Amino acid sequence: MAPIFRFAPSPNGALHLGHAYSALMNARLAAAAGGRLLLRIEDLDRVRCKPEYESAIRNDLAWLGLVFAGAPRRQSEHGDDYARALEALRARGLAYPCFCSRGRVAAVASGRDPDGAPLYLGTCRSLAPRDVAERLAAGEPAAWRLDSARARAVASAALTWREFGEGETEARCVADPVVWGDFVLRGRDAAASYHLAVVVDDALQEISDVVRGRDLFASTSAHRLLQALLGLPAPRYRHHRLVLDANGDKMSKSAASTPLGAQRAQGASAEDLRVALGFAPGPSRFAVRLS
Ligand code: GLU
Repeated sequence: MAPIFRFAPSPNGALHLGHAYSALMNARLAAAAGGRLLLRIEDLDRVRCKPEYESAIRNDLAWLGLVFAGAPRRQSEHGDDYARALEALRARGLAYPCFCSRGRVAAVASGRDPDGAPLYLGTCRSLAPRDVAERLAAGEPAAWRLDSARARAVASAALTWREFGEGETEARCVADPVVWGDFVLRGRDAAASYHLAVVVDDALQEISDVVRGRDLFASTSAHRLLQALLGLPAPRYRHHRLVLDANGDKMSKSAASTPLGAQRAQGASAEDLRVALGFAPGPSRFAVRLS
């Protein structure tokens, strides 16, 4: 079967050069492999994601000359798929409800996960089943978390993935899901966490090649664990370099890195961006730093 790639932006802000790099990298690899490139809109965060950001993202991608196969998959329309996956884990005793508020999670945390969030080591895991049932029946808000120790025991001993970086050489990476603790599968007010949704979507969209920034490298350990638990195939992975801003930090929506739209308004063409990012030959009109 021809390879299937995906670009999966979250519509919680404008795209910047880092996104352009990722999208162009996906497009180049898909074309070289005779594969397809799909668009997925990761809009599960109902507070931060906005339809106007999605329109702006799609305009930017069209301006960059990127063409995606078929209609985009919008995560907010597929809550049932994530609920089924959560139920499969729950039925096997691999997920438990967590009633801790954000403040309580921070108070009981032991260190931080790779995203810098408090590492939750399972206070609610040992609640009495009757207490849990009563609190759920009373409608107390709960997140659902993975019982990570049990999950690691159930999944095969050595979880690995095939990593190609930006080259052709295959490395075998060993997953280290311990660093994520009992991570969230479904938040109090979202249909699924990023980790659960991305794994379900990659499988349902039959993604063979996940191409994304190095900032998501550690996430792949959580994803491989969920794939093993849910009996889903493991794609090939490429974690590419990140585009750095003027301070040498990775670009981010919150750090007000110049959005593509602003670059366009300042007169940059899509070709200028492709040249600057290394996807087309020619003298570059501006300098880009990669990690
Ligand atoms: N939605 C994520 C982001 O915008 C990308 C997730 C992924 O590629 O797995 O950073």
